[in-house]
Amino acid sequence: MSELNLILLGPPGAGKGTQGERLSEDFGLPYVVTGNLLREAVRDGTDLGHKAEKYMKEGELVPDEVVVEVILERVQSDEARDGFLLDGFPRTIPQAEALGEALGVLERELTAVLAIEVPDDEVVRRLSGRRTCVKAGHVYHLEFDPPKREGICDQDGSRLVQREDDREDVVRKRLREYHDKTARLASYYEERGLLRRFDGCRPPAEVNDHIRATLATLRLEERL
Ligand code: ADP
Ligand code: AMP
Repeated sequence: MSELNLILLGPPGAGKGTQGERLSEDFGLPYVVTGNLLREAVRDGTDLGHKAEKYMKEGELVPDEVVVEVILERVQSDEARDGFLLDGFPRTIPQAEALGEALGVLERELTAVLAIEVPDDEVVRRLSGRRTCVKAGHVYHLEFDPPKREGICDQDGSRLVQREDDREDVVRKRLREYHDKTARLASYYEERGLLRRFDGCRPPAEVNDHIRATLATLRLEERL
């Protein structure tokens, strides 16, 4: 079976993390979550964290040169030899170009870009109710996907908190960044025949079914 080299694309709150956790398990793919890597770096006070922190607080994208190196290291690692699932990268055209070049050097290519689409007002509703666990960033929603015990992660028992950048004013800024810099990646990948679109307003299990069906079809086509 050939490798699956996948990207999850979509605005903040589209459900990339919700789908990514499931897909990485379903397909046994190393799951590279840019936002989590950056948040860990900030928490640990590393050099990367110092460079990223002020942008993240403001809801702005961290500069390309800071992010690209960190993510490409993961893509080029042994762990990702048989495939990967990227969440939150690329978010700009230069990031997409850097990824394309790095894969070219490895004589590999992307399998598909999975674009999860939701309108802006739904993003605001979702992010204001999102809660994430302090240990591993597992994702919940107060209304749409509540944990079994209030304030506690079902998966690892750690505390659930609201991310600082999920406050409405910062969410609006993140959405502006998405429309200014990231949304154009849809046409970039569409031109390359890689884009697959999904209605992110469907319930999580349905979105997961749709994505899995699409990936199954891609694999069938490849065998023909
Ligand atoms: P992203 O990783 O794209 O920022 P998340 O996966 O963290 O998005 O989802 C944002 C919020 O919306 C979370 O609180 C999550 O529980 C909720 N959510 C995710 N997918 C759906 C869905 N299909 N329907 C309703 N709520 C969802
Ligand atoms: P996320 O958890 O994906 O919503 O990302 C949180 C924050 O991390 C963003 O608002 C950005 O500040 C930063 N970030 C995540 N991914 C990237 C990226 N590919 N390029 C630049 N900044 C990023």
